[in-house]
Amino acid sequence: MNHAHLYSPLSFWEHQSFLKYDYVIVGSGIVGLSTAAHLKEINRKATILVLERGIFPTGASTKNAGFACIGSPSEVLSDINLMGEEKAFQLIQKRINGLALLKKRLGNDIFSKGNAGGYELLSDKEMYVLDKISYLNQTAKNHLTNNKKELFKYIKPTLGYISKMGFSNYFKEIISIPQENSINTGKMMQKLLLHVQKQGVVVLNNTEVEEIKDLNSKVHLKIKNNFQNAQNIHFEASKVAICTNAFAPEMFSGLNINAGRGQVLITKPIKNLPFRGNFHFDEGYYYFRDVDGERVLFGGGRNLDFKGENTTTFATTDKIINELVEKLSTIILPNQTFEIAQTWAGIMAFNTGKTPIVRLHTPNIALGVCLNGMGVAIGSIIGQETADLLV
Ligand SMILES: Cc1cc2nc3c(=O)[nH]c(=O)nc-3n(C[C@H](O)[C@H](O)[C@H](O)COP(=O)(O)OP(=O)(O)OC[C@H]3O[C@@H](n4cnc5c(N)ncnc54)[C@H](O)[C@@H]3O)c2cc1C
Repeated sequence: MNHAHLYSPLSFWEHQSFLKYDYVIVGSGIVGLSTAAHLKEINRKATILVLERGIFPTGASTKNAGFACIGSPSEVLSDINLMGEEKAFQLIQKRINGLALLKKRLGNDIFSKGNAGGYELLSDKEMYVLDKISYLNQTAKNHLTNNKKELFKYIKPTLGYISKMGFSNYFKEIISIPQENSINTGKMMQKLLLHVQKQGVVVLNNTEVEEIKDLNSKVHLKIKNNFQNAQNIHFEASKVAICTNAFAPEMFSGLNINAGRGQVLITKPIKNLPFRGNFHFDEGYYYFRDVDGERVLFGGGRNLDFKGENTTTFATTDKIINELVEKLSTIILPNQTFEIAQTWAGIMAFNTGKTPIVRLHTPNIALGVCLNGMGVAIGSIIGQETADLLV
C-alpha cells in the first residue's frame, strides 16, 4: 500500500502545539513587540506568536539614532502648518505618553545617564523660529496634559553655549528641549524582546510571512521558507497584527506609505568631546548626539536625494555619507580630528499627513504601520492602539 500522500513535513506534535495561536504579530520591531506586550497586559493567558523575517528585527527599530524626542521647535511649527495646532499637539502628547510607557516597561537604564537633554541649533535661515518659542510654550500649556515642564527654552547667545560645545559659527542660536533624552537603541530592543519573551510570547526569526488570509473564523498565514519544505507551513490565529512599517505595501496594496531610508555614521571615540545631548538642525533634516560621552552619531540628509532614498534597500550612498562627513568636520567638530568607525542605514515609513496608520484591514487583521520616523517615541503607544483594535 502507498502511504506517501500521508506524509507531512511537520510531525503530529508540531501540528498540535506549534501552529495555532490567539494572536499572531508580523514584525518584531518596537511596534510589533509593544503590541505583544500590551496584549499580554490585557490577558496574560493569551497565546501570542511574533513572526520576524530577519535574524534580528530588520527595519528601523534596531537601526535608529535613539532620540527620545517630542519634536524640535521647527518640526513642531512645520507640523502645525501641516495638520493644525490641535493635531500637532496631540502628536506631541503621543510622544510624551509613548516614552513614559517605554520607561515604565523597560526601566531607566535604556536612557543615557545624566540626561543632557536635546537642542535645536539654528543657522541664518531658521531665525524665524526664535519669534515662535513663547507661542509654542503657551500653546503647549493649553493642549498638553500632565506636562508641567516647558517644551522649549531660549538660551541667550551671551552664555556662549555654541562655542563652548565646539560648534562653528554656522550655528547662530540654540534652543534647549529639556524633556528630550537619548536611548541606547540596542539595549532598548534587547530588553523589549526579553520583556515579551518573559511573558510567554513566542518569537520566531527568519520567518517571512508571504500571504495572509482572513477566513472570518480564523486567519491563515503562509510562510516563505525553503528549509525542509517548510513553505507548506501555515500558521493560524484568531487575530493578526501587521507591524511591518515601511514593508507593509509588500503585502497590502493601496497603502499611502513611502519608504524613507535613513543613513547614519558613528565616529570612533574622541578624547574630550566638548558636548553632550541630542542636536537637531536644518529643520530636522540632520541630527547628531553623543554616544556614551565619547562618540558622535550623526544622521540625516534625506533631503539631498528624496527620490533615491525612497527605497527599502539597506545601503549607504557616497552622496549622503560624504555630506555628513563634510558637515561633521566643518560645523560640528571643526576643531577636532576624528575617524569614522562605521556607517549604516535603516528604513522608515512616511505618509503625507504624518499620521501612523492604525486600523482594521479586515475584521481579524489590524494594521499598526507607518511611524513617520518617530517610532522610538510613539512606537509603544502605536502598539497599544493596534492591540486594542483586536481585543
Ligand atoms: C536611521 C534612523 C534613525 C531614526 N531615529 C529615530 C529617533 O531618533 N527617534 C525616533 O523616535 N525614531 C527614530 N527613527 C524611526 C524609528 O526607528 C521607527 O519609526 C520605528 O523603529 C518603527 O518601528 P516598527 O516596529 O514600526 O518598524 P520596524 O522596526 O521597521 O519593524 C518592522 C519589522 O517587520 C519585519 N518584516 C517586514 N516584512 C515582514 C514579513 N513579510 N514577515 C515577517 N517580518 C517582516 C522587518 O524585518 C522588521 O523587523 C529612526 C529610524 C531610522 C532608520
